Amino acid sequence: MVWAQKLVTELGDSIQYEYDFQPAVGEVVDILPGVKWVRLPLPFMLSHINTWLLEDGDGRAMVDTGLGTRTTREAWDSIFSSEPGLDSISRVLVTHLHPDHVGCAGWLCERFNVDLYMPRDEYLLCRILVADTGLPAPEEGRRFYRAAGFSEAQMERYIAMFGSFGRVVSQLPQSYRRLHEDRSLHIGDFEWQVIIGRGHSPEHACLYCPELNVLIAGDQILPTISPNVSVFPTEPVANPLAGWFKSLHRLKTLLPDDVLVLPSHGKPFRGIHVRLDALIEEHQTGLDQLRILCREPKRALDVFPALFKSKISDGNLIMATGEAIAHLNYLLYEGEFNIDTDDEGVRWYQAR
Ligand SMILES: [Zn+2]
Repeated sequence: MVWAQKLVTELGDSIQYEYDFQPAVGEVVDILPGVKWVRLPLPFMLSHINTWLLEDGDGRAMVDTGLGTRTTREAWDSIFSSEPGLDSISRVLVTHLHPDHVGCAGWLCERFNVDLYMPRDEYLLCRILVADTGLPAPEEGRRFYRAAGFSEAQMERYIAMFGSFGRVVSQLPQSYRRLHEDRSLHIGDFEWQVIIGRGHSPEHACLYCPELNVLIAGDQILPTISPNVSVFPTEPVANPLAGWFKSLHRLKTLLPDDVLVLPSHGKPFRGIHVRLDALIEEHQTGLDQLRILCREPKRALDVFPALFKSKISDGNLIMATGEAIAHLNYLLYEGEFNIDTDDEGVRWYQAR
């Protein structure tokens, strides 16, 4: 185990990283009283996820669990055997249902015979997505992506990928404990408040400890990248971007600017207010670009240049499409855009 060196921080118009160090994959670092930082590998462009172990009586409460793959399970095995006491997990907390966060939760709860703590919408949706594994792509999904402008080849890829969620998420326990804002958690010597965020996932839990002045932020706030805000075929006219904006404004009023943010990706930092402003600004800029681009009718697939700097590949097409529709739906709800569906079922968006 390593103690991270603390950097001197000054708040200003940018974020400040707290440590001059980040753990290697599978390494455990003590960063605060009773808080350990663990980094696990991810086989994506995003190379890692941070998880947190909180002293909890004789054991440790885990926050987020890593992708449900053999590589992650082996990383946990080696962490648990690396020093005495680390193999005593008291409970498993999960911020939200994305596979890099929830993937090993079922496996860990079974292994240690402990409870899973999760927000209700996250738990239920996760159970549904795991149950979809191996099923054929539904007509609703095909209709949704056809409407966005998918080509035959893109549609084939969606159909082939459908139901792959459960391949990287171990089966969840059949019961759980709900994380919600009315109930804070006593973990070891500290009290942690649950703050629910919207937009990136339906009911994303952040954990805030006023005494430590620390926020475990999950994916709700990341230091360098903007979390994906997407619409999916199950709720094609959802407006997650409105929830996202609302949550970010709310977090700004709830949290002090000098709170130490522990994000799921990247490094712990201070300067949450400036980061929240930047995240809001980024999406507002995207909306402005859409207003210009959609002076002529456009399909969801046509608006990527307004929202993304990098080229969209097959690998991130579903996420990019979901994010494009989130922005277009927002402008539809604001009454700024009209929509037309052509004979092929393709939807065309235009600024009024
Ligand atoms: Zn996520």
